[in-house]
Amino acid sequence: MNSSQQKYCKFCGALIDADCVICPRCGKQIEEIRAQNPNIYINNNVSSLSNAQSVGYFGRPKNKWVALLLCIFTGFGHKFYEGKIGMGILYIFTVGLFGIGWIVDIISLATKPNPYYV
Ligand SMILES: [Zn+2]
Repeated sequence: MNSSQQKYCKFCGALIDADCVICPRCGKQIEEIRAQNPNIYINNNVSSLSNAQSVGYFGRPKNKWVALLLCIFTGFGHKFYEGKIGMGILYIFTVGLFGIGWIVDIISLATKPNPYYV
């Protein structure tokens, strides 16, 4: 005795197991395919995603505090951290644009959201 429930395919009308997701006769998808794991990845990224959207720019996420500490203690490391190699080299040779770029960057990094995007 088969105790499993059956249903009719809404496409071809074949009698199939109720837990079928794809009709074995016509091959069409009948039910929503449920992922094995609930989509934790997307849920975790909603806040950072909307954050990126609100600034209207999708870049690489950077940790504000890492950049800020690099900026304060090295004066140029945050530029390399952000992938701005040219600016980093310029900062080394000009000592953080004669200290002005360094101060400006500390202030701007301190006021950035975490993570921020470059
Ligand atoms: Zn079918």
